[in-house]
Amino acid sequence: MSTKYETVIGLEVHVQLATKTKAFCACSTKFGARANTQVCPVCLGLPGVLPVFNKKAFEYAIKLAIALGCEIQRVVKFDRKNYYYPDLPKNYQISQFDMPLAYNGKITVEEDASGASRSIGVTRAHLEEDAGKLIHDARLPFSYIDLNRTGTPLLEIVSEPEIRSPDEAHKYLTVLKQIIEYLEISDCNMEEGSLRCDANVSIREKGARKLGSKVEIKNLNSFKAVRDALRFEEIRQEEVLEDGEIISQETRLWDENKNVTISMRAKEAAHDYRYFPEPDLVPFEVKEEEVEIIRDTMPELPAEKIKRFETEYKLGHKDVEVLVSRKDIADLFEEVEKNVKKAQIAANWIKGEVMKHLKEKSTDVKGLNLDPVNLSKIIQMVEDGTISGLSAKEVLAVCLETGDDPDDIVKKKGFKQVSDEGELESSIENVIKKNQKSVNDYKNGKTNALGFLVGQVMKETKGKANPKLAGEMLRKKIT
Ligand SMILES: [Zn+2]
Repeated sequence: MSTKYETVIGLEVHVQLATKTKAFCACSTKFGARANTQVCPVCLGLPGVLPVFNKKAFEYAIKLAIALGCEIQRVVKFDRKNYYYPDLPKNYQISQFDMPLAYNGKITVEEDASGASRSIGVTRAHLEEDAGKLIHDARLPFSYIDLNRTGTPLLEIVSEPEIRSPDEAHKYLTVLKQIIEYLEISDCNMEEGSLRCDANVSIREKGARKLGSKVEIKNLNSFKAVRDALRFEEIRQEEVLEDGEIISQETRLWDENKNVTISMRAKEAAHDYRYFPEPDLVPFEVKEEEVEIIRDTMPELPAEKIKRFETEYKLGHKDVEVLVSRKDIADLFEEVEKNVKKAQIAANWIKGEVMKHLKEKSTDVKGLNLDPVNLSKIIQMVEDGTISGLSAKEVLAVCLETGDDPDDIVKKKGFKQVSDEGELESSIENVIKKNQKSVNDYKNGKTNALGFLVGQVMKETKGKANPKLAGEMLRKKIT
């Protein structure tokens, strides 16, 4: 986009709270069950039923409110949002209108590599229930409906229109997701719809105070899609304005295959949802003691952990960012560091090999079945010269596969390095005999010839020689 304009973005994020049961009934929220098997008169909104609010959903929402530095409403009040849609059998959704559970929070994103940061306001976070799911099959003249999701607790988090670029929107979402994952209040699985995002975007001439016409983008299934769709919209809107035309306020859909947004419907005047207080749920007071009890159960959050890792382990910011990106990885690092006592080396192993395995198997640390004690052992064996770094990678791979003890793997596979001068003697002699040119190069001051010779010793011993010792022996023999 040209420098003439600036972008104004606001995000609405819906998070499914990971409670075992729904927001107002005892139906299971488990994903993937047979359609319409997790429903009851309450979530179907049959006449005469009474909803009962799920306390766990309240606790989870308060946790996020605390983490985002929000003010917490003194009274929890629910409202009915009335509208008709096939996935909403009750014809209304229980939500919160004028008294959101939490408001006035912020999310801090890093601006650039220098570590400068910017705070983006969180206008409100309110509780509501999810609707069901329509399943469309283009070959059929009708649609299916699955009401298992109906009534699942949602937290809607609305940002201030303070995000200034698609990249910043991406960062905002990444930070928010990290916080939610650390709090363990949602699995944040975007494919299963546990985390959904709509974006509002407009552009205006730099310095203008009035906001431009807002376009809402829906159907954003990943953070990458959010960024791509916003980038597309910035340029589209600039072109419209440069052509002397007006941007119409509308809802657009992101088409991931064509990389474009498509107009879905013009935004008519604000919908009239005829909100009114939910008569079946009595407002209740949020007691300060209750909030304090929840506050005491809060884990260390990513921003605090980053600071602590930097000072406690003396690691660089980039390293720490990777380690703290997920709680399970941060925990693994601390477990391994405890035994290895060399933070940088533990960090390198986790950033390198462990992350590689996590990616390959697209799993988390738990799914990797990695005992931190075993990883510490492997690192220790490299450190004291028992095995080479290369063998260590193989030991780790076998260890993940079989769960065997690293000591046994090293023995079984014969990975133990030869660190005995007597045993290396003949190999060293052989290499010197076969590589006279390199020996002479070294004698004539080409110091890197030694690296080549060490490599030859490694080859000769099938990778078992202790390279440090081999280097020392070669140097002594040649000079
Ligand atoms: Zn139910």
